[in-house]
Amino acid sequence: MHFKIRKDDQIMIKVGREKGKTGKVARVIPDKGMVVIEKLNMVRRHQKPSQKNKQGGIVEKEAPMSISNVMIICEKCKGPVRVGTKKLDDGKSVRYCKKCSEVIDK
Ligand SMILES: [Zn+2]
Repeated sequence: MHFKIRKDDQIMIKVGREKGKTGKVARVIPDKGMVVIEKLNMVRRHQKPSQKNKQGGIVEKEAPMSISNVMIICEKCKGPVRVGTKKLDDGKSVRYCKKCSEVIDK
């Protein structure tokens, strides 16, 4: 399956407790159809004591979320938009905003 979201994309969360929040894609997990967004969808994990952290304790970490729960933000539209792909004259395939036709891949 081909996903339209890539690392470093600006996205907005569409559902859940962080609906409407925006962030940057830190990682895409294509096998699972999930993305990790910087500083969003944080979860608390209990960590066992280790060399680095002898006490152990609770750490906050970004949890992956489904790609279908996020939308790409178009810089020109200043909001979440649907994205299509098209081929340029030189054969390169780029993503574009379906609302204003602005090419997202620079
Ligand atoms: Zn746009």
